[in-house]
Amino acid sequence: MLTLRRLVPALLCAGVLAAQADTITVARVREAVEWLAADERGGRDTGSPELVVAGEWLAERFAKAGLAKAVEGSWYHEFPMNGWSFDAAAATATLTRRIGDKAVEFALAPGKDVRQWTVADADAGSDEACTVALFDDEVLQRLLLAGSARRPIFCEVEETHPFWRLAAGPRQMLGQRRQASRPLFLVRKGVLPEGAASENAQWSATWKTAAATQSPMAQRNVVAVLPGTSKKDEYVVVSAHYDHVGTGRAVDGDAIYNGADDDATGTTAVLLLAEALAKAGPLPRSVVFVCFTAEERGLLGSKAFCEQPPFPLAKVVANVNLEMLGRPEQGKEGKAWVTGADLSDFAALAAAALHKGGVELVEFPMASRLFAASDNWSFAKAGVVAHSISAGSLHADYHQPGDEADKIDFAHMTKVVGAIYAFVVDLASREQAPQWNDAGKKRIAPRGR
Ligand SMILES: [Zn+2]
Repeated sequence: MLTLRRLVPALLCAGVLAAQADTITVARVREAVEWLAADERGGRDTGSPELVVAGEWLAERFAKAGLAKAVEGSWYHEFPMNGWSFDAAAATATLTRRIGDKAVEFALAPGKDVRQWTVADADAGSDEACTVALFDDEVLQRLLLAGSARRPIFCEVEETHPFWRLAAGPRQMLGQRRQASRPLFLVRKGVLPEGAASENAQWSATWKTAAATQSPMAQRNVVAVLPGTSKKDEYVVVSAHYDHVGTGRAVDGDAIYNGADDDATGTTAVLLLAEALAKAGPLPRSVVFVCFTAEERGLLGSKAFCEQPPFPLAKVVANVNLEMLGRPEQGKEGKAWVTGADLSDFAALAAAALHKGGVELVEFPMASRLFAASDNWSFAKAGVVAHSISAGSLHADYHQPGDEADKIDFAHMTKVVGAIYAFVVDLASREQAPQWNDAGKKRIAPRGR
């Protein structure tokens, strides 16, 4: 191995490594993950005000690090998603409960007892059969996941629930109307009789939703660049998604899905790699740092980025996407893995570079399937050699409120990010760019060709 070490390019000399050692520390990694995954960030849902704040925070850090804007005049690559705006506190409803031939009516005060949560195809109903459910009901969860309901739903929530507070007035929501769908309303817990959601009664509602106007909601990827020197017009894209799934069904009283591992860890890595590389100075190729939004909505941020890139995708030599770096399986501390590793020479190059930082690449059982499950896929479909590096596991807290910062193994994560630094330096400096192999070309080819 001595011989190999002597061959390490001069670029990996003391100055470059010192910038990494000062910048990518356990304390700085912990600080950034904790900020992104704090309850105040509300689970960083796409379209939420909390995600806007997180995006601004990332842009400020990029600016402070001395990076340049990759999109002209802005730290943001913006794209529209379909959305609605309406006054959630303006909906009206009267519920009727029938048990046998006995009917009881509950007139709900707009804003105080009932608030509108979703927009639907229909906007009024008269004595229409409806569902009264508790927010935690599994049936309700299935309906929410399906995104449409055939009858109006009145969902009981505690006043302290984040949904109740978010529906206190003007509200914007992402989405499209589904044909013949009915809205979901929130009902303040305590307004209906105890056990209303579970008793054997027939409920009907006379209801009217607030007027909703279609308003495209601009979503933001955050982008910065460290311009290169001799190969300035070639790019290495280092990315992660800064969105997560927001709030949802409470587990043990916790309704905030913090997304610490998924993907505050990857976002933190992008940020600290940007800071360390900016400090070390330019490399031959330009290095672009992107924090994607709407990954959890179906890779929408990276899709929009690849459809309207701020520079030609043909000039991108590789996309290093970072996903879930903080929670290794037992015995896999200080190890990492690459999705779709057998499709190009990316993993071999990564293995060599990470090895220098004391990090070994290992195999992961689902690594092949996960290749198409994160933002690297948007680049791969466009032909760019693009993989995700992960250094974790699909743990029980995946997409659960328990994905919290205090469960991250920061020593492990810091070591991995430090090793990825050497890989990014290598990609931005090496003569030969990574290439798909035949299996890779087949995998990324459009279907049905
Ligand atoms: Zn993720």
